[in-house]
Amino acid sequence: MAMPKKTKRTTVKKRKYIFVVGGVMSGVGKGVTTSSIGRILQSRGLTVTAIKVDPYINLDAGTMNPTEHGECYVLGDGYETDQDMGNYERFLGTNLTSLNYMTTGRVYQRVIEKERNLEYGGKCVQVVPHIPLEIISRIEKASRKADADITIVEVGGTVGEYENILFLEAARMMKMKAPDNILTVLVSYVPMPSKVGEMKTKPTQHASRTLGSSGLQADIIVARSEVPLDAVRKEKIAQFCSVDTKSVISAPDVESIYHVPQNFEKDGLSDTILKKLGIRSRGRDMKAWESFTRKIERAKKPVKIAVVGKYFATGDFVLSDAYISVIEAIKHSAYHKGCMPELTWLDSSQYEKEPKKLSDLKDYDGVVVPGGFGTRGIEGKILVANYCRKNKIPYFGLCYGMQIAVVEYARNVLGLADAHTVEMKERPKHRIIDIMPEQKKRLQDSDYGGSMRLGNYEAIVGPGTIARKAYKAEKIIERHRHRYEVNPEYIEQLEAAGLVFSGKSPNGQLMEILELPEKKHPFYVGTQYHPELISRPLDPHPLFLAFISACIKK
Ligand code: GLN
Repeated sequence: MAMPKKTKRTTVKKRKYIFVVGGVMSGVGKGVTTSSIGRILQSRGLTVTAIKVDPYINLDAGTMNPTEHGECYVLGDGYETDQDMGNYERFLGTNLTSLNYMTTGRVYQRVIEKERNLEYGGKCVQVVPHIPLEIISRIEKASRKADADITIVEVGGTVGEYENILFLEAARMMKMKAPDNILTVLVSYVPMPSKVGEMKTKPTQHASRTLGSSGLQADIIVARSEVPLDAVRKEKIAQFCSVDTKSVISAPDVESIYHVPQNFEKDGLSDTILKKLGIRSRGRDMKAWESFTRKIERAKKPVKIAVVGKYFATGDFVLSDAYISVIEAIKHSAYHKGCMPELTWLDSSQYEKEPKKLSDLKDYDGVVVPGGFGTRGIEGKILVANYCRKNKIPYFGLCYGMQIAVVEYARNVLGLADAHTVEMKERPKHRIIDIMPEQKKRLQDSDYGGSMRLGNYEAIVGPGTIARKAYKAEKIIERHRHRYEVNPEYIEQLEAAGLVFSGKSPNGQLMEILELPEKKHPFYVGTQYHPELISRPLDPHPLFLAFISACIKK
């Protein structure tokens, strides 16, 4: 007799979503807010993922000038994204994928593709609802992929702009469909004009009203300000923005962004979120995070690091956003070693004009030359690499910083005066850094976007090297973003002259790490990849740890 089929009971997870939107102005820390909310919800035993939506047309962040847009953050799968993604990964201690990032351009591209494939079944494809529907399907897909209890979606820009309207519409549509599953957090700015002498809540009231005109009501307001919000201001915001006082979260400026999660908890933010979303708490455990922030508080002894780059200046202002992951990676390692990192930004082109200034580098415990592109400032960087090599100043070159170290070695040790990278306008006789074969055609076709060697690639680390000692592993996986490489034709000569390629691609063709032996230099290391992208506060990168150790010794 046939047995009745056993039916397997599967419970469908109730996925919840938090939209984080900005009011008043940009740059007040929506990314850190999103990341910190993620962290405190993780501490309540929930699985969290985060998505960034950027309202611009670019398909990714890879083609934008870092001086204007900040760092381009590369994910493991090679997608070039916004720097906020770095904060998510660092705070959540996780690796995200291209599903966790979208731009207006990417959404439209997919909708048009689907239309061409007849996937809309003969319908007229319209901005509304088809664009928001595509956005929603992407959000839900990312949530499923991460099997997240809570998916936090940060909407770029501020409310009231044209650009992000369709993303807010997607949030509104999701809220309509399942009101209990969606929460809106408004990150607003509460200024304290020095002449007025008190905090002003009016801009926040306006922002909340503007948000209302998109059909969304703020459930929680994170009020960014110089100093903590007092009870009067909280009441006022609550009353005029129609939220309860408990839902107004004071978010004053802090010494370190890593203190933000604990600050939020002072106002009971995770409790408020769980209550509003109807989720039962699964405990509370911030131990590891707190032990890290205690390290920050205890770090006293300074370690002075110079970051030599070129993407600092915008008008009269100096911003370090272009190197944010490098800076964070230095901090993680310094704190773990009990030191307070003191970072100085140095524009490399100054050394081209005034080489005498190089001797100032002696004031630092270590020098980092991060990634970069193009001609400007490169000769200055080469001079810096030369100075650090000769004067035994710990040197860490990342990507371009590694390539220029090879050029410097070829010029000054091999005596190939004309050695250079072919990335320069004038083609050098000695193409020490050459274009990768598969890249040549792409450049000829002006195929620039998303076409570099991107994302995770394996490398093999040689025995008895600084790198091996740091990684304690033979096989490593690191994230890349480059078009050029050390020219294989010069490897033998360079190695014979004492340069050690301690990391290579598995087929031995691509040089991934260079170093000088410890006997010759306290720390002279370069990586073709970007180790800074996988350094985490609770898990600093081994090479940064080794670099900081060498700096401390100096
Ligand atoms: N410009 C170099 C290249 O394309 C280095 C890139 C980088 O530093 N990210 O290979």
